[in-house]
Amino acid sequence: MKFVIAGNGIAAITTARTISNQAPGSQIEIYTDERHPFYWRPQLIQLLAGRLHLEKLYAYPPEWYATRGIEVHLGTRVVQLDVSGQRILLEDGTEVFYDRLLLAVGSSPFEPPLAGMGEDGVFTLRTIEDALDIKTYAQQCLAAGRTETVVIGGGLLGLECSSALTSLGLQVTVLEHGPWLLHRQIDEKGSVVFQEQIERLGIRVMTNAVPEGILASGSVSQVAVEDGRRLPACLVLCATGVRPNVALARDAGLDVNKGIIVDHRLRTSAEHVYAAGDVAEYEGQLPCIIPAAVEQGRVAGSNMVEPDSATYRGTVPSTTLNVVGLELTSIGQIDPREEGYEELRQADAATGVYRKLVLRDGRIVGAILLGDRQRVPTVTKLIKQRTDVSRYKDRLLDDDVDLEEIIHP
Ligand SMILES: Cc1cc2nc3c(=O)[nH]c(=O)nc-3n(C[C@H](O)[C@H](O)[C@H](O)COP(=O)(O)OP(=O)(O)OC[C@H]3O[C@@H](n4cnc5c(N)ncnc54)[C@H](O)[C@@H]3O)c2cc1C
Repeated sequence: MKFVIAGNGIAAITTARTISNQAPGSQIEIYTDERHPFYWRPQLIQLLAGRLHLEKLYAYPPEWYATRGIEVHLGTRVVQLDVSGQRILLEDGTEVFYDRLLLAVGSSPFEPPLAGMGEDGVFTLRTIEDALDIKTYAQQCLAAGRTETVVIGGGLLGLECSSALTSLGLQVTVLEHGPWLLHRQIDEKGSVVFQEQIERLGIRVMTNAVPEGILASGSVSQVAVEDGRRLPACLVLCATGVRPNVALARDAGLDVNKGIIVDHRLRTSAEHVYAAGDVAEYEGQLPCIIPAAVEQGRVAGSNMVEPDSATYRGTVPSTTLNVVGLELTSIGQIDPREEGYEELRQADAATGVYRKLVLRDGRIVGAILLGDRQRVPTVTKLIKQRTDVSRYKDRLLDDDVDLEEIIHP
């Protein structure tokens, strides 16, 4: 059987590996428009900061693909999908036929509709080329004696980029349109402790700050904020979310909403066509995180080999901020607004620690752990295993409680 995969991110690689494990000897072909073999996108932050060299970025050597029978076609964009003919069309006009197809084409940075977005010195970060371009431009700014940098978007990516750019020697201001940073990862009380930590890293934060436009004279020079302020900037980085790459699927007539709609087997509306990763929408959810891409890739791969052999039931969202000197992990429901939830909290601004557990029916359903890496693995297990913790509830956040004992009494 011939398996064809469009895209070469973590969803594609996980699916390919699953297929090769479950059906050794299968023909597996990956087509990607990127010129590089698979790499972990979070490492782009290290590449940008100059802490990692390009050659160290590639996840696997060529033998890894060869021994699994995976053939990767780099720099090869898929431009069309013909579901009735079970074939895809490549940029150079080549047709590729499939028995099973996976769409794992990921997502692209959302570019806010601001005047000046296309100006020299305005960037988004998604690929190796983006990271290298930003780094080169940053070095040119520094060589010209300019350091003012504006990052639009105070989410995970915006803050990770801010930290990387700061470490290069730039002076970064983050513009966040909401009332606090990382509103998907931390609640309002925790954000007070968190913002102090971010500012200690030398990053300036402006919340409730809506950018109005980017001004340029030859290259970017200022960011205009709706309240009338003008921020000087030699470099602007937009980190304002992503949008799934649905064009291929939509043009082929597949059911598409914000993402490509998939069922619990990761099947799309077209026969023999599956989707996984950032591009897939399951029950209205688009997590756009690596754990979801991995779980979906496994299920899609299994079902592509053996229909109905694996089931996807959604992914508990879990994210970790990758900023040197700052440890923040958020899991599950961190700030539910409905009735029926209990919240346990501890905050210590002096040590930069903020812990919050959200409970429902005696089980932990969400957690924020700032400055407390130790608890992350056990709390994650308790959430995923839906362990009843009601007997320990009053002591869950105490320093002397060993959460492992709750898991293995
Ligand atoms: C800098 C950065 C840091 C991140 N950090 C984290 C983190 O710490 N934790 C986390 O959970 N998530 C993180 N993410 C998000 C995470 O990387 C994504 O959720 C993940 O990469 C999604 O994997 P994917 O395989 O679905 O898509 P992608 O990784 O986007 O891969 C899709 C691939 O398909 C290719 N493609 C698109 N269209 C076509 C076409 N028509 N033909 C051929 N190829 C095509 C794309 O070029 C791309 O290579 C980060 C993202 C970035 C950019």
